[in-house]
Amino acid sequence: MKDPVNFSIGQPDFDVPHDIKAAAIRAIEANCNQYSQTVGETSLLESIRSSLKSRYGWQEPRVLVTSGVSGGLLLAFLTLIDPDDEVIITDPYFVMYKHLVNMVGGRCVFVSSYPDFRLPLRGIANAVTPKTKLIIVNSPANPTGAVYHEDEMRQLADIAAGADALVLSDEIYDAFCYDGPCPSIADYYPKTLLCKGFGKSYGMTGWRLGYAASNEPLADVIEQMTKLQQYTFVCAPTPFQHAAAAAINCDITGHVDEYRSKRDMIYDGLNDVYDLTKPQGAFYAFVRIPTWAASAAQFVEKAISENLLIIPGGVFSEQDTHFRISYAAPDDKIKQGIEILRRLARG
Ligand code: PMP
Repeated sequence: MKDPVNFSIGQPDFDVPHDIKAAAIRAIEANCNQYSQTVGETSLLESIRSSLKSRYGWQEPRVLVTSGVSGGLLLAFLTLIDPDDEVIITDPYFVMYKHLVNMVGGRCVFVSSYPDFRLPLRGIANAVTPKTKLIIVNSPANPTGAVYHEDEMRQLADIAAGADALVLSDEIYDAFCYDGPCPSIADYYPKTLLCKGFGKSYGMTGWRLGYAASNEPLADVIEQMTKLQQYTFVCAPTPFQHAAAAAINCDITGHVDEYRSKRDMIYDGLNDVYDLTKPQGAFYAFVRIPTWAASAAQFVEKAISENLLIIPGGVFSEQDTHFRISYAAPDDKIKQGIEILRRLARG
C-alpha cells in the first residue's frame, strides 16, 4: 500500500519527550549498559513506589520492572495459572490474554461485553466456578476504548471476593482517560495485581518498559514473578530504566488533550453512519461493520482496497462483527480515514 491511512497501529503517534530522550542518552554515556537488578533499577523503583503510594495509598508497594507490559503479563500468567485454572476475560479482549492463558495450560472463560462494552458484571458473576483463579480487567480497554466506572469496579471487587479470585488489572492506557478520572479495581480489591506501562504514555513502545505491582496481600506473587524474570528476561533494558525514572513525573496532558479531540473527530465523523459506542479512553474505537458486509474480515479487505488499514474484530474477540480503529494518527489522516469509512458504510 502506498501511503495508506493507517488506523491499525496500537501506539501513539507522538515521540518520547526530549528531556527523557536526553536522560536515556546520558545513561548510555554514563555506562549504565549492563544488567540491572532483576527487580529493576533502584531510581526507577523508587519513582514507581512513590507514584503508587500517592495514587493507591499503598504503604509498602511491591514492584517488578518488566520488559513491557507484555513481559509482566507473561510472568504473571506463568506464576499464577496452573493447568485447568480458569481465567475470566471480557470479550472483546486484548489479543495477548487468550494466547498466554492457553500457552500456560489455563482455560479462558470469555464473557461478552457486546454491544455497549460496559463491564458485564452479571455475566462475570455467572462465569465464576470453583476453578476460577483470575479475572482480567483492562480499563481503559483495548480494543473498545471503554473506561469502567467506580461503581462497576466496586461490584467487580465483590464478585472477585466471593469467588476468592485474584484480579489482574492491565492499566497500560491509564493516562488516556478523556471524560473524568480513571478508576482502578485496585482501589476496591486488595488482591489485585497491577500491570502498568510506559510505552503508550510516553511514546516509547520500543523501549520495552512496564511494571507489575501489588500491595501486601500479593507480595508473594511479585516475588515469584521476580524469580521467573531472573530465569527468563533477566531484567528490563537498563539505560531506558534510568530514563523512565525521569518520565514518570513528566506531564503529558497536552497529548491527552490532543487525543481527546481525535476521539471526538472519530466519534462525530462516524456516529451517524455506524453503530459505535463512544470510547472514553485509550486510542481505539470498536465499530460494528455495516449490514452489507458478511464479516469483519470481508469489510477489512474492502477497506484495504480503499487504502485504509483497520483490524477485524475477530482478532480481539470470539466473534467477527466489528473492526478496530486506532486514531493515534495525524489529524489529516483521521479526516481521510473518516471519508473512506463513510463511503464504505454505504457499501
Ligand atoms: N496490554 C494492552 C491492553 C495493550 O494494548 C498492550 C499493547 N498493545 C500491551 C498490554 C503490551 O504493552 P507493551 O508494549 O508495554 O508490552
